[in-house]
Amino acid sequence: MIYIKTDAEVELMRESNLLVSRTLAEVAGHIRPGVTTLTLDSIAETFIRDHGALPGFKGYAGFPNTLCTSVNDEVVHGIPSKYTLKEGDIISVDCGVILNGYYGDSAYTFTVGEVKPEIMRLLEYTRASLEAGAKAAVAGNRVGDISHAVQTTAENGGFSVVRSLVGHGLGKQLHEGPEVPNFGKRGTGTILERNLVICIEPMINMGTKNTRVGNDGWTVRTGDGKPSAHFEYAVAVRDDKADLLTTFEFIEEVLIKR
Ligand code: MG
Ligand code: MG
Repeated sequence: MIYIKTDAEVELMRESNLLVSRTLAEVAGHIRPGVTTLTLDSIAETFIRDHGALPGFKGYAGFPNTLCTSVNDEVVHGIPSKYTLKEGDIISVDCGVILNGYYGDSAYTFTVGEVKPEIMRLLEYTRASLEAGAKAAVAGNRVGDISHAVQTTAENGGFSVVRSLVGHGLGKQLHEGPEVPNFGKRGTGTILERNLVICIEPMINMGTKNTRVGNDGWTVRTGDGKPSAHFEYAVAVRDDKADLLTTFEFIEEVLIKR
């Protein structure tokens, strides 16, 4: 179902997504070689609860943790574990909260120490594809305009777009309509109405676009073991331009001091 929000609901969702943005920044300060993904998870859970919210993913469809931590060839939905981050890894951290009855949901892919230039390039193009998609989230456009912008940006860099998972509407439910694929044709799909809140979340692979799900039933990996990156914004569709409910500014303030 698609639920168009009121202005007041969009403001509540700004609060939820601001908390996710701040949680990701808190996590950013702890990402370094030697830290386990389970440690990052516990830092995030404590931070979210200390701010009067609930972890949005924990218990969702049986997911066991607060964060999805997806390292290297893991695309999304990685389960935090005793895995110790090492120099040269990349890690997508996807975080959800519930605050005042509304979900926040955003993701950022971090580098661990020095990362190979071709992997840095994958991250840059994935981020750029997110920004291009967000620019198209304007009232009167269609979902396909977002999809097309994401796809062409990523493919222009020689990267491939995951098909098996897509972005989504966000609100009182973590996954509302419409689906927001990262591939598609301009001028197709659902018309974007003012105050529709959606998550745009390109999952971009260095090699094949194909994915497989691991034995844990959650972790999505690339089909060829090559790296994958993932960035996610929650945005409210507006008449003139997209209203970003997520900000990466707090993360970047932490990273610049590293
Ligand atoms: Mg997410
Ligand atoms: Mg999402």
